This record gives sequence, C-alpha cells and structure tokens, in this order.
Amino acid sequence: MASRRNFIKYSSLVTGSLLSSIAVSGSGNSSSDQIRKINKGVLKLKYRPYELQLNHIFTIATSSRKTTPVMLVEIEYDGIIGYGEASMPPYLGESHKSVAEFLAKVDLSGFSDPFDLEDIIQYLDTVAVGNYAAKASVDIALHDLIGKILQRPWHKLWGLNRNKTPNTSFTIGMDTPEIIKEKVREADSYKILKVKLGRDNDKEMISTIRSVTNKPLCVDVNQGWKDRNMALDMIHWLASQGVIFIEQPMNKYSVDDMAWLTQNSPLPIMADEAVQTVNDVLAIHTVYSGINIKLMKCGGMRNAHKMADMAKILGMKVMIGCMTETSCAISAAAQLAPLADWADLDGNLLISNDLYEGVKIVDGKVALSDLPGIGIKLIESHKTNPT
Ligand code: MG
Repeated sequence: MASRRNFIKYSSLVTGSLLSSIAVSGSGNSSSDQIRKINKGVLKLKYRPYELQLNHIFTIATSSRKTTPVMLVEIEYDGIIGYGEASMPPYLGESHKSVAEFLAKVDLSGFSDPFDLEDIIQYLDTVAVGNYAAKASVDIALHDLIGKILQRPWHKLWGLNRNKTPNTSFTIGMDTPEIIKEKVREADSYKILKVKLGRDNDKEMISTIRSVTNKPLCVDVNQGWKDRNMALDMIHWLASQGVIFIEQPMNKYSVDDMAWLTQNSPLPIMADEAVQTVNDVLAIHTVYSGINIKLMKCGGMRNAHKMADMAKILGMKVMIGCMTETSCAISAAAQLAPLADWADLDGNLLISNDLYEGVKIVDGKVALSDLPGIGIKLIESHKTNPT
C-alpha cells in the first residue's frame, strides 16, 4: 500500500497534465490528497483538438496535405493520467467534429476499474459504429493508464522481447527530385525507406532515390495502379531495384486482380486500405501476403494485438504502421513492434509540433524503453502551457 501511494505521488509528478484545469499535481499536500480521494474509482475522460504541422507537404497517390487534425485525450484515475490520441487523416472520414461528438457520448461512469479493458472496449462499440480513431484514443489512454498503475510498459505486460523489434522505415512522399533527395538525406539513420508510388512517374521516383542510396526500399502504392499486368511488370522491375515488399498496389475492391497479383508476385503484397479491423483479416488472408496494422484503423492496441495474432495463425506477414501522429500514438503502436515483421512508425518524425517524448529509433530499429504504459512523457513546456 505504501509503495502504491508513493507511486501515485511519483506519477502525478512525472505525468503532469496536458489538458487539465484540475490537474492532480504536487505530492503529499492536503489538497491533492483530497482530489485523489474524490476521484478514486472514477475514470475521468478529457480531450481537446490539436493540429499537427507537417515538415513537408505530404503527397500520396490520392491526396496532398500540410497538416493533420488529431484529438488529444486523457483518462485520469486515482490521480494517474493515461494519454491517448486520435489521428484523423481526411481520407478516413473522421474529423475533430466527429471525434468530439463520439467522445462526448462516452460515459465511463459505469466502470469503476480501468482493468476491465475488454468490457470498456466492447462498450465503445455500442456508443457508435465506426469511429475507429476516436475509439483508439480511449483504448490508448486506458492502456497507458493501466501500464502506469502496474509500473510496466505494455511490451513487457504482453511478454514481448524488446530486442526483437524490426527495422522501421522512413516514408518518402511524392515530390520533386530535389526534395526527394533531401528527404533521403533526412532519413540517414533508417535502414529501410518507404516510397509512395502510384502516379505516372514511379520509375523516375525510384531512380532518383537510387541515385543517392542503396538502402532496401518498400513501396506503398495506395491503390494507385489500375491494371494488373502493368502492376506485375512494375513489381518485377521494383524487385530488381532492391524493393522488398509492395503495399496495397491496387484498389481494395479489386479482389480478383489482387489475388492474382499476390499469387504471381515475386514480392510479398501487403494489405493496408483493404484491411481495417480484426474481422477483415480472415476475409483477405487468401488475397494478400500480409497486413499493415494501424491503431487508428482498428480501434487501438487491444484490437491491433488480436489482428497480429490472427495474421500469424493464418501464416501472414505482419506490419505495424501509423498515420501522422504525435509520439503518443506512435509509442503505443511501438509496444506491438516485436510482433511485426516490419514497422513503419515514423509519423511523429514528419511533424514539427510533437507534444511528447516517446519511442526512439536507434540504429534503424524501434527502441522500446522501460517507461510504463505506452512509454511517453509530456514535453515539459506543454505541462504548464497548453495551447
Ligand atoms: Mg499504406
């Protein structure tokens, strides 16, 4: 009991509060003890919108943008704060408005124990269908909270070996040859680069990158190729250029073409847009070689873990990916990295206004730390000066 009380004091000191007007701060004084007593047994949810600023205009086969909206979430319990985040790239259909509307409907008063994770996640599905990023924000905050209560990071609670994290890739969006070369130089510490293809200058993009680096490449087409024969010819050429796998080459609804391509491709074909939740994995396991799991697509860490398990049972490759996100959601996803064949967790590195310190990339790999929960700390200046 004594050590738990000490931990509560410690956690309130180190976690601070990003959104708080009633932050439980300081340690041992009578007013903060009183707040803890009042809040005991209550899961208190708070959220606020935030706009991520991208370092470069980000262009893929279907869109272009310079900012990404996110919702920052906190769940406080017994004086401990868990952080979560929803990221809403526009093509997924969620927004500040939709996430705020969803979170306003979430009533956690029926749950007195954050460890009732399965029940709480099931409850979120009854609040509204879809809204996966909004659901992920609650799921991530609860995982962070539970890990902090137990004083363990989630990769340890899941029994995952942190030495088995894969290399993570750095994404090069579509751009002019000069900017592409600059981005390749920025990615110096990465051992794999992810290249966005799917327009009419694909070979030029690869040749530009090959003029400055020999690193292995993976390619994300974002459904951009329209003809399966052209796609197969391109994959053979890409294989000769040191590409190791292809992500979502054709439209997710072109199931027959995709199955044919996977069957004939010399490289693994990964599903991204074609796989969202646990239920999709079984449906597409004969169509693709593997799946790209993202917390914002599937509703959070709990579902992501289930998807990875199912993919492995079905003999599929597993990739853990991300949207443009702060170190909050990236560090949450990184807890799963030892389960993955490949990681693509660079979303926090593509922005200029991160709010957290979290997972680091060391020698090209995801480096998990001993920090509890999802493994993040609020950057000092944001504790007292929320924007
Ligand atoms: Mg993708």
